[in-house]
Amino acid sequence: MTAPNQRPEWHDAKRIVVKIGSALLNEPGTGTLKEAWLASILADVAELREAGKEVVLVSSGAVALGRGKLDLPSGPLKLKQSQAAAAVGQITLAHAYQKLGAIYGLQIAQVLLTLGDTEERRRYLNARHTLQELLLLGALPVINENDTVASAEIRYGDNDRLSARVAAMVSADCLVLLSDVDGLYTAPPDQNPDAKHIPVVKEITPEIDDMAGDAGTELSKGGMKTKIDAAHVARIAGIHMVISSGHCSHPLKAISDGAKCTWFLASSDPVTAKKKWIASQLEPQGSVTVDNGAVKALANGSSLLPAGMTDVDGDFDRGDAVIIRAQDGHELGRGLAGYNYADAKRLIGRQSDEIEEILGYRFGDAFIHNSDLAFEKLG
Ligand code: GLU
Repeated sequence: MTAPNQRPEWHDAKRIVVKIGSALLNEPGTGTLKEAWLASILADVAELREAGKEVVLVSSGAVALGRGKLDLPSGPLKLKQSQAAAAVGQITLAHAYQKLGAIYGLQIAQVLLTLGDTEERRRYLNARHTLQELLLLGALPVINENDTVASAEIRYGDNDRLSARVAAMVSADCLVLLSDVDGLYTAPPDQNPDAKHIPVVKEITPEIDDMAGDAGTELSKGGMKTKIDAAHVARIAGIHMVISSGHCSHPLKAISDGAKCTWFLASSDPVTAKKKWIASQLEPQGSVTVDNGAVKALANGSSLLPAGMTDVDGDFDRGDAVIIRAQDGHELGRGLAGYNYADAKRLIGRQSDEIEEILGYRFGDAFIHNSDLAFEKLG
């Protein structure tokens, strides 16, 4: 799998996470699995592994397959219906992976994750160890959300964002979102003939955020919005991400051959394992807006001091993850709050040596210590 027009981010990647969407795996309308297509992707995975790469798959499809088998009506499902559909569909999905994987000598390992497995550090480390052991033993992990027990409050809800968390968890070099579109456009291409394809995104600016419409197809949960959310996580965790079309046979070979797609390049900072976990938090509990001086200081590796804060928002406790925003609201990074919301609000714009006087106690000079910070370098 080498081609002259292969991107270095792909060629050099040692560990690759590939997200396969429901709309690609299922025949529209019938809820049956596209076995020939799945076989083609497993053939690609076998070839990538031959070339010395490790691969982890994040596969959707359980709910769509299960709803077909249970003859559930089309349209949005109630939570309990999708939980039941997932229970039926997941076993069908796993069986198909096992059967087709065997053709290419792939030992399939099914891993079902719930939100807490990436949010809580102890469970995160546990899941990370299991995935690492599976890779060491030469198995091919096929991951999905454990939809049968996931409820509205405790679920990822879409596999775009789940796959970014998995990529951070296994310290992947590259995340592939195989989708029904071949990348990001300046406007929805089916509605706007002037929409331009964007081959490379080096920084997720507010304009890029705005290009993400909201729509997904009926089968897939995520539209472009969840893909851009995934890109935020991947980039801060030091992972290159590519959105590529899965509407062809051998879609991973197509990437090797330089297919049209959109690459989101990782921020160039070396990222520690703890920072990857911080970046991968699904639901930060709040946000802090910082001034331009703090942006520069953070980009140089400093902690975030109260003096650089201009606003805080949300309902966070000390130790919770918060988003760091520039004055225009643009997300710059994430970090673990050193003070809770009420304290942080009182510390806005103040000097660190005033903390004790203002609060009556102090936990340290910084609102976010630099070891608790996953920050994207600018430009
Ligand atoms: N976990 C869901 C399933 O397997 C898919 C979520 C998504 O489409 O992103 O059906």
